[in-house]
Amino acid sequence: MKLVVRVKLLPTPQQASALEATLLICNEAANWLSTAAFARRVASRAGLQTLAYAQLRALGLSAQPALHVLRKVADAYTALGAQPRAGKLGPSKSTSRASAAWKPIRFRAEAAQPFDDRCLSWQMDAGTVSIWTISGRLKGVAFTGHPEHIQLLTRYRRGESDLIRRNGQWYLAATCDVPETDENGRPDGFIGVDLGIVNIATTSTGRRYSGRRLNRRRESDRRLRSKLQQKGSKSAKRRAKKHAGREARRTRDINHKISKQIVAEAQRTGRGIALEDLGGIRERVRLRKPQRATLHSWAFHQLGRFIAYKAKRVGVPIVQVDPAHTSQECSRCHHTDKRNRPSQAVFTCRSCGFVEHADLNSSHNIASRGWQVWGRGAKSVAPALVPAT
Ligand SMILES: [Zn+2]
Repeated sequence: MKLVVRVKLLPTPQQASALEATLLICNEAANWLSTAAFARRVASRAGLQTLAYAQLRALGLSAQPALHVLRKVADAYTALGAQPRAGKLGPSKSTSRASAAWKPIRFRAEAAQPFDDRCLSWQMDAGTVSIWTISGRLKGVAFTGHPEHIQLLTRYRRGESDLIRRNGQWYLAATCDVPETDENGRPDGFIGVDLGIVNIATTSTGRRYSGRRLNRRRESDRRLRSKLQQKGSKSAKRRAKKHAGREARRTRDINHKISKQIVAEAQRTGRGIALEDLGGIRERVRLRKPQRATLHSWAFHQLGRFIAYKAKRVGVPIVQVDPAHTSQECSRCHHTDKRNRPSQAVFTCRSCGFVEHADLNSSHNIASRGWQVWGRGAKSVAPALVPAT
């Protein structure tokens, strides 16, 4: 399984300016090449190489970076689905695609640039990388990341990494080829996971991960941010951005912790994991207006992704279930009624009298729906595996 792991670089000011100049020149070169490719109606990698390799080298790019620029441009035209050839625009009637095909593709000055092992080497023990730049090789550029990500990198990193600049910070996004365990084809039931606001996650096995502390921190962060935004000064904006980054890191750490524990429990007890369909989570989030400020649907999607890739790694089957009415259905008699849920925390069945914590009741429903989904196909129906960050 391929995972993309992102680490943050901590360059000295001098190193940072070398990185900046490098990214800038790579993207300038890509833009120049894109224009040339468009003018000559050439977009294949081989064609571009004949056309422009020597000129790219003359711009100061060494062999590998020049080839990466060639590939970046060729891939961008391929991704567009239309070769930049006048009069032949392919089957699509999409206007954006048509107009894009009529003008050269442009790259942002800070668009990501791939580096392979010849241009980038990792010293995991020292926590540094050595990277090619336009002003020579930079050695000892420090990086930092989540301990779990560092572990993945150390053991499974393969091939290229992208140099990325975002909000003034430098990152490397590295691809890891992580081995998977054969899936447990005969799970002993499913753990249902209910995702929510008051409780970030509640499992049908009775574990509850409270969101109280996180929500409180978010609320105070939000107040500080809006204060800073009102100020409107440059330094206030910078501080606001910094705070947003801190909040994202905190959420990620918590999501790593929760997903790890849920997957470990499923593995230990030979069960699979049932999650609500993540699209449904977004729907539900939209409904709860007063709490919108304390909650971001990306946080749920992230938790779902973390659970999915960790489960896949250890062979725990994972299914997604229809989220409709999981909170209104009685997990004992399956009577479904809005009035079964008189408050946020309480579930009381109007039909059989069953009383349960509302999130726990939902998680039981999710677990039994998971078992049904598994029964139909006996295979994982997991969310797409996407970056681990
Ligand atoms: Zn009931």
